[in-house]
Amino acid sequence: MPQLRFRAVEEALRRPIKDFEVSTSKISEIFAINVFSRDKMQRYLSHEAFESVISAIDEGRRIDRKIAAQVAAGMKAWAMEQGATHYTHWFHPLNGATAEKHDAFFSFGRNGEAIERFSGDLLVQQEPDASSFPSGGIRNTFEARGYSAWDPSSPAFIMDHTLCIPTVFVSYTGEALDFKTPHLKSLNALDKAATAVCNFFDKDVKKVFSTLGWEQEYFLVDEALFNARPDLVLTGRTIMGHAAAKDQQLEDHYFGSIPERVSAFMRHLEIECYKLGIPVKTRHNEVAPNQFELAPIFEEANLAVDHNQLLMSLMDKLARRHGFRVLFHEKPFKDVNGSGKHCNWSLLTDTGVNLLSPGGTPKNNLQFLTFLVNTIKAVYDHSALLLGSIASEPNTHRLGANEAPPAIMSVFIGKTLSQVLDDLEEKVHENKMTPDEKTELKLDIIGKIPEILLDNTDRNRTSPFAFTGNRFEFRAVGSSASCASPMIVLSTALADQLTLFKADVDELIASGVKKDEAIFQCIRKVIIASKPVRFEGNGYSLEWIEEAAKRGLPNIPIAPEAFKTFLLPSTTELFTRYGVLTQRELHARYEIRNEIFVKKVQIEARVLSDLAINHIVPTVIAYQNVLIENVKGIKELFPDENDYCTLAGTQLLSIRKISGHIKEIREKVKELVEKRKEVNQEENIAKRAELYSSVIKPYLEEIRFHIDKLELIVDNQMWPLPKYRELMFIR
Ligand code: ADP
Ligand code: MG
Repeated sequence: MPQLRFRAVEEALRRPIKDFEVSTSKISEIFAINVFSRDKMQRYLSHEAFESVISAIDEGRRIDRKIAAQVAAGMKAWAMEQGATHYTHWFHPLNGATAEKHDAFFSFGRNGEAIERFSGDLLVQQEPDASSFPSGGIRNTFEARGYSAWDPSSPAFIMDHTLCIPTVFVSYTGEALDFKTPHLKSLNALDKAATAVCNFFDKDVKKVFSTLGWEQEYFLVDEALFNARPDLVLTGRTIMGHAAAKDQQLEDHYFGSIPERVSAFMRHLEIECYKLGIPVKTRHNEVAPNQFELAPIFEEANLAVDHNQLLMSLMDKLARRHGFRVLFHEKPFKDVNGSGKHCNWSLLTDTGVNLLSPGGTPKNNLQFLTFLVNTIKAVYDHSALLLGSIASEPNTHRLGANEAPPAIMSVFIGKTLSQVLDDLEEKVHENKMTPDEKTELKLDIIGKIPEILLDNTDRNRTSPFAFTGNRFEFRAVGSSASCASPMIVLSTALADQLTLFKADVDELIASGVKKDEAIFQCIRKVIIASKPVRFEGNGYSLEWIEEAAKRGLPNIPIAPEAFKTFLLPSTTELFTRYGVLTQRELHARYEIRNEIFVKKVQIEARVLSDLAINHIVPTVIAYQNVLIENVKGIKELFPDENDYCTLAGTQLLSIRKISGHIKEIREKVKELVEKRKEVNQEENIAKRAELYSSVIKPYLEEIRFHIDKLELIVDNQMWPLPKYRELMFIR
């Protein structure tokens, strides 16, 4: 067995850098060449079809069947010119992966001749067999069909000679089985509510877009070493392994230069991203060894989510070509930083105004403050649900582990803005304001925001939800998650808050209060009501956990506990009010999350038992036998009792220690297997998930503890699995 480890290390050390020839240095020449983008639509579609698709994208209008047939013909013509032979509906089922089933354009014509065919019907809707995707009980076994339906707002693209058409995915009875369906609905709700509020300030605003710029963190591991670790192969993380003598304590990886083999991979990846229209912009090392990050220029949120999903599958594919495996697990290595997916988010009007960016005039700033405080309130009101939206088994390893925010939602806005909100709270009052008071508010408080913010972009990396100058950054999202999940909650919660806000302002105006003053008063109310969620201190500290509890903020570090927020009456009310998710759909999502949680822990438990009993224990016994032989030899040479005890003392101690650890491992594994059987009897999936969390997971840690201790005792030559120092430091 150790041969496999050493062969892997050797292979990794010797792996050549795969240089990737780039035919052009001009990104603009290759950008989106594999995307059926607007300029290509214009070329390949009739004027009528083009206009129809554009209004579907910009205004959400329906495309009729006749037009769809024209679009399909244009798409096919373009795709075939690019060498595509197949097409697929491309969607994101609730297991977080992307799904595709490729069909050839190839078909037979009327006279049996070979032709290429792609009709409007095939573009608009298909019926993939939904039975292998999670449905949380929505899908009856006798009705396994589901529909995938074209989403014209996300352009089709070509990957691997296949025309990919982004679609939503719903059950036969119309319930959403994906992230995209509710995401589009939530974006729509937010657009309506935000536009109405914008119209207080600017009548010309007709539409408000959500913008999203994600930052994707990930680890790279050499393929040979990856393959020599069954835990990585089967679970995506190391479920055992002692920390390396050096990991991230020197903080030398973050600013270090990117290793050559990695940068060859990154260049390759970026070129492929550009071809697919993913506007990647920054790349750098992250804190942990072999951890990296990639971030694009932000885009409209639905497109940004699709691009992130596409990026993850692209990374997986290309990493292999460079002899790497990419790890999206939130915590692949114990005791070093895990990976997140920061979601930078803002709102943009069709008149080009970023609603979370302070503007040049007091009016613009009042609009900015309106959106700022309402966002804070929305986060406050649905903080538990936001935690639920990002909860998963792997993310529980990361949240609160000294590197990522705890499982408490709070909002950081910085000193300057905190002061502004405090001033508003103090200076605005319910009686009619004097002209002097109004001028002071407008000029001294609101008017100065942009100047002070400019040289005061303080950052707090410990906050889960931080204002960063012209956007919010949601940092608690896990690296493997779909950004859509938290975005659905955020968008719907804000849509609701803005709707309430507008109603409040309207009521005051109707009672005779001037518009400006009405807005000021409502802002003040929102500031006061959402104050407990604002926190400027160290989110990683223990004091904050105590303080947050005093403030009544939910702290939900256990995933199955967090999933329960899907069933809260406030959740059902929120989502049904805006038609984003029905109670049945919410319940299904709840079940699916619990199911995935159980399966993940179950797989880890099995892998750990197998590795412990079949790999670790036999190795350790072999080493112990070496020690026993050694002690016997010493005794033969030095029969004198005193001599022999002095000379073989430490070996005897090791023999004892090893026996102790083996005993613990054997017993714990046996118990683990029994407990699993017991827990599996629980029929209710949510209760089973709770049991897996409270009963099964602790065994994983306990067994690991003994294995990691043994790793320090046993001869390095005999240890079967690549060690942390090999996994993380070999390029
Ligand atoms: P940092 O690591 O300091 O947080 P990065 O430059 O890595 O910053 O990432 C910033 C991200 O924020 C990028 O993806 C960027 O496109 C995004 N971003 C910038 N402005 C906006 C905006 N108005 N809306 C959404 N995302 C934005
Ligand atoms: Mg960031």
